[in-house]
Amino acid sequence: MQSVSDLLEQKKFFKLVCGAGNEDTESVKRLVYVYAKAGCKVFDLSARPEILDAAKEGAERANADCLHYCISIGIKGDSHISKAKVIFSNCIQCGTCARICPNDAIYPPNIIDEKKCIGCGTCKKKCPAQAITTYEKDIDTKNILPELVQNGAEILELHIMGHDKRDLENKWEIINKVNPALASICIDRENFGNKEVLSRITEMIKVRKPYTTIIQADGIPMSGSEDDYKTTLQAVAMAEIIQNAKLPVYLTVSGGTNSKTMELCRLCNISPHGIAIGSWARKTVKRYITLQDFWNNAEAQNNAILTAKNLISSSHMVT
Ligand code: SF4
Ligand code: SF4
Repeated sequence: MQSVSDLLEQKKFFKLVCGAGNEDTESVKRLVYVYAKAGCKVFDLSARPEILDAAKEGAERANADCLHYCISIGIKGDSHISKAKVIFSNCIQCGTCARICPNDAIYPPNIIDEKKCIGCGTCKKKCPAQAITTYEKDIDTKNILPELVQNGAEILELHIMGHDKRDLENKWEIINKVNPALASICIDRENFGNKEVLSRITEMIKVRKPYTTIIQADGIPMSGSEDDYKTTLQAVAMAEIIQNAKLPVYLTVSGGTNSKTMELCRLCNISPHGIAIGSWARKTVKRYITLQDFWNNAEAQNNAILTAKNLISSSHMVT
């Protein structure tokens, strides 16, 4: 069995991001089934015991027994713990939000399923009546993380794009106390400049041994709705900043990643240890895994697995 460190060292680390805010157990089960069948070994999950259980069920159905689980945790102000909410008094029932939600989290015209909402903010941006707001749904980090690690989670990943430094420090302290084999720090430049990004990371990794931390260079979080170079440009640019800092960490790319990411990395002489794909990886298999008869539909399963395989093979690392 290849450990997560082996996968990183060998640059064979491909992580399927099921969605930090995705609390929909059935969708997680199907995603893990499809991508495990396609050869993916690492899965990124919302920090909820029932989601880890759903992922394991998907793995079992796929007969995949050597998978690794990464748990995503957000800090206050970070979109990864955000959920959308409709202000019904403003809503004109145009149906736009339900049509464009990438996770099918809105039942027409305007009812949001909190468990499916991943906090991407697309509906809020496109609503013509300013009828959508967001709220934060945090977890009891202190109690949930030890339980998840005990149940097999190997990587704890902290998304640190919020401004609440106290929350950041508290959660990072808990993560290091739980002492996962690997911790991961996910960061982008939406709120901070390059200097702040590097100073946050440098400070945080002081408490960890060399090469027990992954820095996930996020381009634009949850933005991978298209499979082109432009969509993945920021992820590659962010990876370059981390690579140039020469820190004793593993580097992975995410946030707008797609089948073009590794090619663009190669062209730019960026050599990450791995890649995490969320929005695009989910979108590309969505038409199969959302079928009602998915579990009895061998053709849909095969098509989904083939699609996933193609995405994984396009993500082979730079050597
Ligand atoms: S897009 Fe806005 S106005 Fe239209 S249905 Fe959704 S919440 Fe209502
Ligand atoms: S568009 Fe994004 S933020 Fe809005 S309901 Fe769907 S998943 Fe949630």
